[in-house]
Amino acid sequence: MSAELEELYQEVILDHSRRPRNFGELPNATVRVHGDNPSCGDEIHLAVRFEPDDSLGEIKFTGHGCAISQASASLMTMKLKKKSREEASTMLRAFHDLIVGQSETVPPDFGDLRLLQGVRKFPQRVKCAMLAWRALEQAMQLDAGESTVSTEVD
Ligand code: ZN
Repeated sequence: MSAELEELYQEVILDHSRRPRNFGELPNATVRVHGDNPSCGDEIHLAVRFEPDDSLGEIKFTGHGCAISQASASLMTMKLKKKSREEASTMLRAFHDLIVGQSETVPPDFGDLRLLQGVRKFPQRVKCAMLAWRALEQAMQLDAGESTVSTEVD
């Protein structure tokens, strides 16, 4: 990344970790997933309300951990709220490939999410950035109820 992007990355991560968006309880959630990243101590409680048309009507989270895990969760909820499952799955795959370095292609609708690709240089931080996304993946598989997911189990 260029120095300019690097700076923007720091700024966005800090902003989202200090003031996470969609942070809080979601009383009428259809699915709740607790995501755990023991290698860093990050925790995310993700709550999703699926709409009758199967879109992700509402996504909220609570949790604590490093700036990257919380910022990634915040950015994810902003980006995936109101999306269809298909759009969410596509974005999930693209995000994964981007931050593990499997792809250089940033989808045009990624916005600030693209900045998280900076973590690819730090394999331990990839787990932090993926935590919320793994929880979301689990939520979509589960459809209803509660579950847990850990970055230590693939
Ligand atoms: Zn972390």
